[in-house]
Amino acid sequence: MARLTKKQARAEVSRLREEISRHDHLYYAESNPEIPDADYDKLMRRLIELEQVYDLVVPDSPSQRVAGEVTEQFNPFSHVIPMMSIDNAVDEQETREFDQRTKRFLKTEEEIEYVLQPKFDGVSASLTYVKGVLLHGATRGDGKTGEDVTANIKTIRSIPLVLSKQGPKPNLVEIRGEVVFPLSLFAKLNEERKKLNERLEEEGRIPLERNKKSKSTWVLFKNPRNAASGSLRQLDSSVTARRPLLFYAWGVGGCEGVDFKDELEIYKALCEWGFKVEETRNCWGIDNAIKWARKLEKKRDSFDYEIDGAVVKVRSRRLQEILGTTAKYPRWSMAIKFSPKQITTKVMDITVQVGRTGHLTPVAELEPVKISGIEIKRASLHTEDTVREKDVRIGDTVVIQRAGDVIPEVVEVVPSQERGEEAFSMPKNCPRCETPIEREGSFHLCPNISCPAQIRGRISLFASRNAFDIEGLGAKRVEQLISEGILRNMADIFTLTKEQLLGLEGFAEKSAENLLEEIEKSRDISFERFINSLSIKHVGARTAQILAREFKTPENLMAATDEDLVRVDGVGEELAQSVLRFFGDPERKGVVEALLRQVRLEKEPEPSGENEKIAGKTFVLTGTLSIPREEAKSEIERLGGKVVNSVSGKTDFLVSGTDPGTAKLQKARELGTDIITEEHLKSLIGL
Ligand SMILES: [Zn+2]
Repeated sequence: MARLTKKQARAEVSRLREEISRHDHLYYAESNPEIPDADYDKLMRRLIELEQVYDLVVPDSPSQRVAGEVTEQFNPFSHVIPMMSIDNAVDEQETREFDQRTKRFLKTEEEIEYVLQPKFDGVSASLTYVKGVLLHGATRGDGKTGEDVTANIKTIRSIPLVLSKQGPKPNLVEIRGEVVFPLSLFAKLNEERKKLNERLEEEGRIPLERNKKSKSTWVLFKNPRNAASGSLRQLDSSVTARRPLLFYAWGVGGCEGVDFKDELEIYKALCEWGFKVEETRNCWGIDNAIKWARKLEKKRDSFDYEIDGAVVKVRSRRLQEILGTTAKYPRWSMAIKFSPKQITTKVMDITVQVGRTGHLTPVAELEPVKISGIEIKRASLHTEDTVREKDVRIGDTVVIQRAGDVIPEVVEVVPSQERGEEAFSMPKNCPRCETPIEREGSFHLCPNISCPAQIRGRISLFASRNAFDIEGLGAKRVEQLISEGILRNMADIFTLTKEQLLGLEGFAEKSAENLLEEIEKSRDISFERFINSLSIKHVGARTAQILAREFKTPENLMAATDEDLVRVDGVGEELAQSVLRFFGDPERKGVVEALLRQVRLEKEPEPSGENEKIAGKTFVLTGTLSIPREEAKSEIERLGGKVVNSVSGKTDFLVSGTDPGTAKLQKARELGTDIITEEHLKSLIGL
């Protein structure tokens, strides 16, 4: 390199940075590059060289996007203005209700002016610029506090490191937007990960699944959103830099020094600052908003990322301020959800799966198709009755749909002259253990609780995230340990030894130690999670919570009678019977007792800030309240009360707003339940 004076170097560095930022914007935000990649690389190399030789590195230089910072963990980051989630409207009626609520709140009959934006199915992030320079990038987290992922955010080229001077000049601004993974590149990423994993395994190294440091717990990403999230939360930013992430800005959080009048001004500023944005449309009145949401839904496939709805926002910032927020959502915004995506394919076979509670589910094995970049090979057919109703046969062409993370399902058979084979019927015996099948209503059941398929299902659930959360003990591992005869029930997990594991395929010294360490860590567990992990029929996370709060200890729960159980709000006769049957079975009770010797139950926390007028009381809400129902509900629950949907003998108060439900009122009168107004409720709460 020719010797330059420091002044010359500084001038060239500054020119290069501007040049590179301009090309970044053209390439990543406008998809309209001016120069070939090789020329761009040359500029970047020259910049890095000059910065190093002349000691001119600064954090907002484009060279820092590729610096490759490795961190141990992400620091918490507090948002200036909380990033709230948005309430969902699943249909047109709910969207209109939102509009009516908004008008009522603003005490106006006139049409409201809204703006409409696509709702990205990605990872929300907030970027803080101080005096125009990107200082922090953070995930949404719980809305108040996210994770500081600045080094990773900087690797995303569509994010300007410095706000373009063409836009307004705030002292501080939080840019809100979504990090997405392009659909077109998603399959390729998974393919690469699969190959990498195979290579690691061949070389006897730890596969990605248990690579603690990078926190990659998935070998393959389930969907593009997971890929975006997994890439953004890499501890090594050079990994993030290799992922083709995009950032779309959709709003502004905290802002000092510039006063935006409305959402369209914000949209204009985002464009001027150099962000990638999607169209923000002005809609006069809710009818127009609904119309544009429908148009957007029709062309959702033309985007290279998933859009799962349209966001409606009140345009005026002044009105937004008046509307304010509930405990959970802004009152000035609502997301109109799109219907699930559908596609047609062929049924290659219909197989039968045995679940953890013994239920048999027919499953359509499909000719693989892709929806939103995800390959789909199977779809649930629920029950024999469903298969017959829809008349799905092997060889048929069917419409399938997928919504979010939900398992794909068969919607209908495409009518055709050529029908598939004969109609489906359930096998007479369990496909796994040969036990004769029993019928229970519309369900088919393998009654053998020692059925290997059921044990596998129960142990997999036991180790899963919502239960004991034992990383590295997925369905495949469980299957392997069962067929080796090492696991016979859930309690066996806690007596596994390294010697047992080392003899097995796929376990090396290190991986065996890792699994045992995970198991050790899982021993501390809340009573609620413990109940949820037992696979008691009809008991899900919500019921587990109710039972844990009511009975407080396993001893109490196991000793509970039918009467004790049905007295609990949210527990019906069917559920009570199921709990009694579960603990009445000596084998299952034995497993629970063995488990209790292995785990350490955490104490149930007492609800905080109890209010004696509310605590322990059960409320039903009816009619329209001046505050959203969710808010009233969470307030009552915070004070130790309960809110249920229907009036029964266990109800203490019926809170009646305007236009109350007549059935609820009548029932409350019949039962002599206290009927109170919203004002009365507020006085009880202490508002
Ligand atoms: Zn069976």
